[in-house]
Amino acid sequence: MARRIIVIGANASGVEAASSARKKDHTAEITLITQEYPGYSRCGLPFVLGGQIPSFKDLTVYPPAYFKMLKLNLKNETKVTAINTKDKTVTAVDKAGATETLQYDSLVIATGADSFMPPIKGREKQGIHSLRTLEDGEKIDRAIKDGAKSAVIMGAGLIGLETGVALIERGLKVTIVEMLPQILPAMLDADMAKLVQEHLQEKGMCILTGKAVEKFLGEEKVTAIIAGGERVEADLFISAFGVRANTKLAVDAGIPLGESRGIKTNARMETDVKDVYAVGDCAESPNIITHKVACAQLGTIAVRQGKVAGTNAGGGYALFPGILASAVTRLFETEAGVTGLTEAAAQRAGIEVVTGAISSKTKADYYPNALPIKVKLVVEKESQRIIGAQIVGGEEVTQRINALSFAIQKGMTVRELAKADTAYAPPLNETWEPMVLAAEMVLMKLR
Ligand SMILES: Cc1cc2nc3c(=O)[nH]c(=O)nc-3n(C[C@H](O)[C@H](O)[C@H](O)COP(=O)(O)OP(=O)(O)OC[C@H]3O[C@@H](n4cnc5c(N)ncnc54)[C@H](O)[C@@H]3O)c2cc1C
Repeated sequence: MARRIIVIGANASGVEAASSARKKDHTAEITLITQEYPGYSRCGLPFVLGGQIPSFKDLTVYPPAYFKMLKLNLKNETKVTAINTKDKTVTAVDKAGATETLQYDSLVIATGADSFMPPIKGREKQGIHSLRTLEDGEKIDRAIKDGAKSAVIMGAGLIGLETGVALIERGLKVTIVEMLPQILPAMLDADMAKLVQEHLQEKGMCILTGKAVEKFLGEEKVTAIIAGGERVEADLFISAFGVRANTKLAVDAGIPLGESRGIKTNARMETDVKDVYAVGDCAESPNIITHKVACAQLGTIAVRQGKVAGTNAGGGYALFPGILASAVTRLFETEAGVTGLTEAAAQRAGIEVVTGAISSKTKADYYPNALPIKVKLVVEKESQRIIGAQIVGGEEVTQRINALSFAIQKGMTVRELAKADTAYAPPLNETWEPMVLAAEMVLMKLR
C-alpha cells in the first residue's frame, strides 16, 4: 500500500517538505492542507507595497501546475481542526463546512506563525494592520489607495523597517516606534544598527527608539498612539511586534513544545511523537553555536527544515544541522546582514568574545561609485573561532554574509580567515577584502 503523508500548511516549509517527500517516494499519497492561499512568498509582500513588484499575484512561487506535476494532492481553503496521534488521523473542514478525516503514516506540521500583538490598551480598536498574509498586504495597499498619508509602524525589526521603506516609497510619512534603544535589535549590534538608522533618517523615516507603545487612541478606529509618553497621530497603523509560533493544533494533540515554546524537534525534525514532524516557523531547533533552541522564523530555515522532514517522511534520511539565523535586508540604498551571534547575543549566552570592525569600500577606492561597507566579526576568545558577523554596506553584503556563514559552520578561526585567498579587481573589490581586514583587527586585539 502506498505511504500516506499529510502536510499541514502549504507555504515555504510545507511545500518543501511535500516536494522532498515526493523525491524520495514516487508512489506515496501526499496531501497538503492549507487554510490560506498556497505556495506564495511572504518575503515579497513589502516589495509589492513598495511598487517594485507589480501585484500580489506575482508572489506565487508554486502555481497549481507545480502541485499537479509532483502529484501532490492540495486541499486549499481547508482548515485542520484536530490531529489524533493515536489513530494517526487529521480532521479537516473545508470552506463549505464539510468535515473530513484523513489517515496518515507520516504527518508534517508546517503551520507557521501568526503576527503577535502585545496586550496594549485599545488594541481591540479597528484599523491596526499587520503584514503577514496576502490579505494583510492587500488591506494596507487599499488603505494607501484610499488616501492614507501617514503611517506609524510599531516595531523596528526586519519586517517593520522593510514595510516602512515601502510606505515612504509610496509617498507616506512614516514613523517607526521601537521599545528597545536601537533598530534591528535581533539582527545587529547597536554600533552597526546606528549606520542603518542614520541612512533611514536621511531618507525621511522618523525613528523613535526606547519608546514602548502604551495605548491606542481613537473612538472605534485608532487615530493615534501613546508611545513613551509621546502622542503620535497617523492615518495607518501597522503592528510589527513580531510573530508567535502557531502551535495550537500540536498542543491540543499532546505534541510537546520545547523551551522556546515552538514545537520540540530533533535533528531529523521529528517531534516527540512517532511519525510526526514539525518544520518552519512553528518548530524549534538548536542554535549551532549556543545549542540553545529557538524558532528562527526565517524562510531560509523553513525550507531547509522542510527538506529534512520531507526526506525523512518519504523514507530517506536527512539531518538539520541547526540554526545560524543568517539574514539580509535592503533598506533604500543600504544593505544589512548577519550570521551567527551578535556581540550582544554572545554576551547574553555567556561567551567571552573579541570583536573587530573595519570600514572599507566595495570597489577600489579610486574607482567610480565605490560604496562604503563595514564588516564586524565576533570571535570566541578562547578558541579564536568566528561565531558571528554583521555587515552594513551599499552593496555586496549577501555573498559576504554567506561566505562567513560557511566559515562559522566549518569552525574557521579568525587566524585562518585573515589568511584567506580572496579576489580583487578595481571595479569589484578592494585589494584587501574587508572580511580579511576585519579578521586582522580581531588578531590585533588578541595580540
Ligand atoms: C513581510 C515578511 C517578510 C519576510 N522576509 C523574509 C526574508 O527576507 N527572508 C527570510 O528568510 N524570511 C523572511 N520572512 C519570514 C518567512 O516568510 C517565514 O519564515 C516563512 O514564511 C515560514 O514558512 P512556514 O511554511 O514555516 O510558515 P508560513 O509561511 O506561516 O505558512 C504556514 C501556513 O500554514 C497554514 N496553517 C496554519 N494552521 C493551519 C491549520 N490549522 N490548517 C490549515 N492550514 C494551516 C497558514 O495559514 C499558513 O499558510 C518574512 C516574513 C514576512 C511576513
